[in-house]
Amino acid sequence: MPSFVIVEKCDGCKGQDKTACMYICPNDLMLLDKDGSLGYGEMKAFNRDPAMCWECYNCVKICPQQAIDVRGYADFVPMGASCVPLRGSDNIMWTVKFRDGAVKRFKFPIRTTGEGAAAPLGGFDEGSGDINSIDLMTEPASTGQDKTPTL
Ligand code: SF4
Ligand code: SF4
Repeated sequence: MPSFVIVEKCDGCKGQDKTACMYICPNDLMLLDKDGSLGYGEMKAFNRDPAMCWECYNCVKICPQQAIDVRGYADFVPMGASCVPLRGSDNIMWTVKFRDGAVKRFKFPIRTTGEGAAAPLGGFDEGSGDINSIDLMTEPASTGQDKTPTL
């Protein structure tokens, strides 16, 4: 199920032109209803095309107000449960609330590379650039081989 905004919690990222959810969505789905004329409420964000949402959770994780939720599929979230992430500076905590009321929390470290500082190709060169080659970009160097093995 796609993402949705809990309007009571959304503060429109305090009036910034580009909200956190607009910035992070890889599908450019989140919009801000600045004056409420779109029917979502003044300074409330919304998902403009839920059918295009692939439930990547990026907007859920970045929202400073925890105002976005996704109803996860059963392969990820047990039936009737909710799964809420809380991002820290070097970790992310997932709180899973089961339908019987039990709560479990899972904490994982996250990458701390500065924004915009990640090397796009991981420090490797592009590779041959030959579209007919079996090598993917950065291979074979990024797989630690001189030549990609074939049958
Ligand atoms: S990131 Fe959260 S608080 Fe900011 S506009 Fe989006 S839903 Fe609202
Ligand atoms: S879950 Fe991912 S694709 Fe869907 S609106 Fe949020 S950031 Fe965009």
